Amino acid sequence: MKTLVLNSGSSSIKYSLFDLNGHNLLVSGLIEKIGEESSRHRFRLHNDAGNSDNNDAGITIADHRQGLQAIFTLLSERQAIARAEELFCIGHRVVHGGEHFRQPVIIDAEVIAQIREMIPLAPLHNPANLLGIEQTIEQLPQVPQVAVFDTAFHQTLPPHAFHYAVPADWHKHYRVRRYGFHGTSHHYVAKQAAAYLGRELNKLNLITLHLGNGASATAIEQGRSIDTSMGLTPLEGLMMGTRCGDIDPALPFYLQRSGQLSAVEIETALNKHSGLKGVCGENDMRSVHRKAENGEQAAQLALQMYAYRIKKYLGAYYAVLGHVDAIVFTGGIGENDAWLREQCCANLSALGIDIDTDKNAHIDNDCAAINAGDQPVAVLVIKTDEELEIALQAVECVSQPTESHDHNPA
Ligand code: ADP
Repeated sequence: MKTLVLNSGSSSIKYSLFDLNGHNLLVSGLIEKIGEESSRHRFRLHNDAGNSDNNDAGITIADHRQGLQAIFTLLSERQAIARAEELFCIGHRVVHGGEHFRQPVIIDAEVIAQIREMIPLAPLHNPANLLGIEQTIEQLPQVPQVAVFDTAFHQTLPPHAFHYAVPADWHKHYRVRRYGFHGTSHHYVAKQAAAYLGRELNKLNLITLHLGNGASATAIEQGRSIDTSMGLTPLEGLMMGTRCGDIDPALPFYLQRSGQLSAVEIETALNKHSGLKGVCGENDMRSVHRKAENGEQAAQLALQMYAYRIKKYLGAYYAVLGHVDAIVFTGGIGENDAWLREQCCANLSALGIDIDTDKNAHIDNDCAAINAGDQPVAVLVIKTDEELEIALQAVECVSQPTESHDHNPA
């Protein structure tokens, strides 16, 4: 049973082809800089032994239509998919599902209209996701297509967690509330944590920390997201590569009143020139570490701030949950940065959280426990796989009886 996952951005298309009989990744690829002369199509063919080759198709891609054509041609030439019928379904990543989509859904004209309606909430992402969806339907109309939303996992937040303390009619009129993002990753690692611990997810309380270029923390109670650090947009919460995370909401108005910066300049700075980059000039965590090791104080400060803010959320979510079975680190930073994991969990033994330094330094599995043996709270490092999770959710959605394709069941 082959399933294709497409993540269509404004100038890129990322894709993965899975054979879900064995959860095997067959082909993965990325088309970048669509519309530019320097556009590239790079892909990897993965064999049974888990090895892969890097390839560059060396062609220019003018638009999304051509990009998708290039992907389908490649998959057919390399015999990854000989006929369209071999594809069980296609899963599309969609960033914003608003309050309407609580679960994946088979795409039809109504779903497309609703994703379009969500564009004001995700002006950069939803139009690009839609472009990929519409072009794929045009090229492969016979294959079921499923939308999997980044926001869906967080639709279980209770009202006291998703409302902001702002005028009540802003929710009704402007859809202002906490939505949360990275839901596919938080959900995937939560399921992996349950499997690793040999427990049922709906009996587990977890704090999951997705730390990549974007970063977010989620409190999971009995398998359901009950709070998450990103909000109306992915700007709120933890400090990130280039995003500021939590700030005083008065800060933009203060700067605007100073007359030196426009609203657009402030918004751009908070999204693209803040976070690690804003504090020390680097947004890649490995570069920040190198600078810090070379004695640069700004980089040392950036690292301290980054870890400190995660620790504040750990404390807050611990209090919210009351009992925590496991803390999960994931994302490029969460999976690889032993120093950071140690900082985040330092001096928390009163809460039952303590890391084994040796285990923390030697992670050689996609899922590893790094807590000291005698501690009640498991600390896990789990490799996220958003593409696989989208594929699994898409297959589950298509395999369900048709009446449960309701977008927003009570
Ligand atoms: P994205 O959010 O784009 O998917 P990733 O999850 O790949 O990003 O995370 C990218 C981040 O992970 C970068 O800041 C990168 O420096 C960091 N990272 C990758 N490897 C390491 C490492 N060994 N130590 C610390 N940080 C790392």
